[in-house]
Amino acid sequence: MRQWQTYIPNGSLLCVVEASCCEEYILCNEGGEHFIRRQAADGIYEETARGPYMRAATVWVRLSAGHVHQREAAS
Ligand SMILES: [Zn+2]
Repeated sequence: MRQWQTYIPNGSLLCVVEASCCEEYILCNEGGEHFIRRQAADGIYEETARGPYMRAATVWVRLSAGHVHQREAAS
């Protein structure tokens, strides 16, 4: 399992590189560091795989592929 940590801004401008379906996982660039950010159920942002672009992007693709899209409930 991947380790998620509470997202702590490093003071640089946060740029969204790519957002997965439903914006479940956001690939971010913050002062040259790349990482994946997600919003936990309680609204707190969490991050993982902080580091070089290729590493973060690879993890992001893998996470995005595991997304199960929930269609709008046909109630
Ligand atoms: Zn989706």
